[in-house]
Parts: sequence; C-alpha cells; structure tokens
Amino acid sequence: DAAPGPERIAVYQAQRDQAYQRRIRLARDLRYAAQYKELSAVYQPKLDLASGEVRQVEALMRWNHSELGPISPDEFITLAEQTGSIGMLTQWMMAAVASQLRNWIERGIHLQVAMNISARDLDDPQFPQRIEKMLQAQQISPDYLALEVTESAVMTDPERNLSSLRALRDLGIELAVDDYGTGYSSLATLKSLPVQDLKIDKSFVLQLAEGGDDAVIVKSTIELAHNMGLKVIAEGIENSHSLNWLKERHCDVAQGYFISRPLAVADLERWLDDTRGS
Ligand code: C2E
Ligand code: CA
Ligand code: CA
Ligand code: CA
Repeated sequence: DAAPGPERIAVYQAQRDQAYQRRIRLARDLRYAAQYKELSAVYQPKLDLASGEVRQVEALMRWNHSELGPISPDEFITLAEQTGSIGMLTQWMMAAVASQLRNWIERGIHLQVAMNISARDLDDPQFPQRIEKMLQAQQISPDYLALEVTESAVMTDPERNLSSLRALRDLGIELAVDDYGTGYSSLATLKSLPVQDLKIDKSFVLQLAEGGDDAVIVKSTIELAHNMGLKVIAEGIENSHSLNWLKERHCDVAQGYFISRPLAVADLERWLDDTRGS
C-alpha cells in the first residue's frame, strides 16, 4: 500500500479536530445541562427471579442536548469524570432520585432505586454525609437506596475507597459492585469490601444463549458470589433463553431489554401496573 497522501492526512486531521471540538463543547455545555433542564432520569426494572416480582429499579441518566440531541451516557459520563463535573451530575441524580422516591412512597409505590456512582464520588470525603442529608431531608429510609460502583472504581484504590464505602454501608445503604468481571479484583479484595451485591457485567450475559466460555464464567461467578454470601444480579438479558438459564442457576436478580428497557417514570408506572396485572 502507498503511504497516505496529503489529502488523507488532511482528512485525518480534520476528523481529529472535530472530535476535539466536540469534547470541548460537550464538556462546557454539560456544566449548564442541569440548569437548562436537559438532564433526566430513566428507570430500568430489575426482576427478582425467585418471586417473579420487581422491587428494584436502576436509575440511569439521560442528556438531551438542545442542539445535538441525545448524548450517550458512555460519552458524557466519561467526559464528566475526566473534566471534574461528575460530582455535580451525581448531586443532580441524587436529588432527582430522592424526590422520585418521596413521590412513590407517598403514593404507596415501594421500589428500591439503585444509583450509579463513580470513583470520583468515593474520593470525596463529604459524599456519604451528603447522601445521608439528602435522605433525611426527604424522610426516606436508607433501604430505599442502593448504590452501584464499578469494579474498576473500587479496585483503583480500595484502601482509600473503603472508608467511604463503609460509611455508606453504615448508613444502611445497599452496595453493589457493578460491571463485575471486567476489572481485576482479587477474591481477597472483594471479600474485604462492605458490599452485598455482585452485578455480573452484561458482556458475559449477552451471549449466554450460545453457551461456551461465558456460560462457564457466569455459572462459577454465581456460585462464588453465593459462597461469599453475596446476592447476584445479571444485566444484559436480551432473550428468554438467558432469563431461564439464569433462573435455573439460581441467579437472584435479572435486568435487561428482554424484561424492560430503561423507562421514563410514567412509562415505568404503566409497565408495573401491566405486569402486576392490577
Ligand atoms: P451500567 O451502570 O452498566 O448500566 C447498564 C447499561 O446497560 C445501561 O446503559 C442500560 O441501558 C444498558 N442495558 C440494560 N439492559 C441491557 C440489555 O439487555 N442489553 C444491552 N446491550 N444493554 C442493556 P446506559 O443507560 O447507556 O448507561 C451506560 C453507562 O453509563 C452505565 O452503565 C453507567 O456506567 C453510566 N451511567 C448511566 N447513568 C449514570 C449515572 O447517573 N451516574 C453515573 N456515575 N454513571 C451513569
Ligand atoms: Ca449500573
Ligand atoms: Ca453494569
Ligand atoms: Ca457499564
């Protein structure tokens, strides 16, 4: 092959410049996203496999940019973590979740909400206290809240994150290790963490139907977690085969498009009514 000519190089540079400009723009606009009411929360049901009931939902953030349209969380959350605005997004989400919980409790709808937090949140020594204050202000019992922390986030600095995790746990908040299997945690570290749930990363669950390595990994992870007294949640269930397979192997909780996509509040409430047959 010939070396890239000057035209190709110009195209590469233009693309790189565009990606750079987009990052700059999104990083700036993200700071105003809450103020301009561009952020929202959607909720994805989690199915309890033993009882067949939905008692928990995961809150996921959405950003609808006024000019660029919906921006994927994988893009804007990563950007927020790199540019230092993640703390503000977590605060926004916490307030949104707390007021949603208050509304549901008043209407007799009892759902636990799991919120995602990042490594940066755990770095902040004030974080557990802020969560506590928010719950108190809305008079919400801490067992309505669960927090999901990615395996890589807890493992980057387990010593340092441990005190935040313990403080959160002492408040009575359920803690889950998210994206389990994608990081490099040792069993010893995992055992030392004050977490109750292990959430198996969807990359292992998506291809369960085809059998093979992923099935072996998921099966032994369920057994391992149960032996350590942890509850197992599987995400990325896209078909009935995966759901049945996980149920047969005593996975505790299942989440995925086959059960329901993440939904806006009104759609979630309708979905719950329909599936509960009331
Ligand atoms: P996550 O915490 O691992 O969330 C699960 C992601 O998988 C969500 O993507 C969800 O919509 C998607 N998902 C659910 N079921 C299925 C399925 O059956 N198949 C497939 N292929 N995907 C499924 P989403 O909403 O785009 O969020 C992506 C990531 O962004 C999240 O991954 C989480 O790491 C981060 N994120 C989202 N909201 C927040 C937030 O409020 N705070 C923080 N810190 N991170 C957030
Ligand atoms: Ca999560
Ligand atoms: Ca996950
Ligand atoms: Ca993820």
